[in-house]
Amino acid sequence: MSEKKLIAADTVVSIQYTLTGDDGTVIDSSEGGEPLTYLHGHGQLIPGLEQELEGKGLGDAVAVRIDAENGYGEHDPDRLVEVPRDRFEFDISEGDFVQAQQQDGTTVPFQVVGVEETTVTLDGNHPLAGKVLNFKVEVVGVRTATSEEIDHGHAH
Ligand code: ZN
Repeated sequence: MSEKKLIAADTVVSIQYTLTGDDGTVIDSSEGGEPLTYLHGHGQLIPGLEQELEGKGLGDAVAVRIDAENGYGEHDPDRLVEVPRDRFEFDISEGDFVQAQQQDGTTVPFQVVGVEETTVTLDGNHPLAGKVLNFKVEVVGVRTATSEEIDHGHAH
């Protein structure tokens, strides 16, 4: 008799998933492509989803609704910045991502959320910040991670 392997810390899990917003629009999906494979218990998925998958096994399906707080955080208006349009030497339009350098020298992606005559509004929030996330997930693989994978903190 073979025992069903259950999802726990240090298992490598493969899932097919579809992520929809509260209005039903599909935000992201692995359907029709390779499943997403990750190392469980290492913060690779957003916490609310990882919690829901804990203890599930091959063939199990979960549907989970995650509020912004347990997803990508609330939308922070302080992360909206207005910059002069002539700062950009290329055409930009709403929805584009630009890399912006921070004071500490690191770069972060900002999404263009507004283009006016002389200014451009950039949003440094995660594109999914402030959004409710509805995941439909099917577990298509669970195995014990190798010690190398646990060392590296990701699946191979
Ligand atoms: Zn590695």
